[in-house]
Amino acid sequence: MTELAERLTALDARIADAARAVGRDPGELTRIVVTKFHPAALVAELDLLGVRDVGESRQQELSAKRAELAETPLGGVRWHFIGQLQTKKARAVRAASDCVHSVDRDRIADALHAAAPDGDPLDVFLQVNLTDDPGRGGVAPDDVEVLAAHTAARCPSLRVRGVMAVAPLAEAPASAFERLASAAAAVRRVVPDATWISAGMSGDFTEAIAAGATHLRIGTAITGPRPDRG
Ligand SMILES: *Cc1c(COP(=O)(O)O)cnc(C)c1O
Repeated sequence: MTELAERLTALDARIADAARAVGRDPGELTRIVVTKFHPAALVAELDLLGVRDVGESRQQELSAKRAELAETPLGGVRWHFIGQLQTKKARAVRAASDCVHSVDRDRIADALHAAAPDGDPLDVFLQVNLTDDPGRGGVAPDDVEVLAAHTAARCPSLRVRGVMAVAPLAEAPASAFERLASAAAAVRRVVPDATWISAGMSGDFTEAIAAGATHLRIGTAITGPRPDRG
């Protein structure tokens, strides 16, 4: 077994243990392998190991990898965009993604919708900012319900699936993820079937699973350290 395969297997076992420890079925969790800053070849390698969900955080890198792998038959990888999103990049992100985790304002939702109003529906998460720093990505928890209502009403080519967040550095992840669960409930008041919660990274997926996460975004614990951004 390669080192990558070993880390993947070990991580999946830890995820399954964490789920069972809180009475959840590991089968209801989607594990996304975050491949940012790694070469496109890593995605092909993960595909051969059966990975079906990968995450990228920069539009140019995502588009370049998809172009590079255009001739490589992948077994059905879903590409998740997890990075901060600018309106001017929305068209390229929509073209290259199966799912976008970082819709955090009306204008981003509008731009993603306008990029392909009659296209295949795009699954989106509404990103919630769990810090006090408005410069971090995400809508304030108090405003997520209004963003959900806007997206559901005005952007019919987007499917609001749930909420996403990154735990703040300066707080225990468990309490932060509790606020995310409240934000998720607020979104479900508007879109009752928006049951997904994207939370949990290499260092905090156990807490995220305990707080109800359905989609885990795991990078270094599977891929090893990231190469420099360059
Ligand atoms: C990089 C990144 C991850 C993965 O982080 P690791 O600590 O490497 O698991 C998850 N979510 C987002 C939004 C990221 O940018």
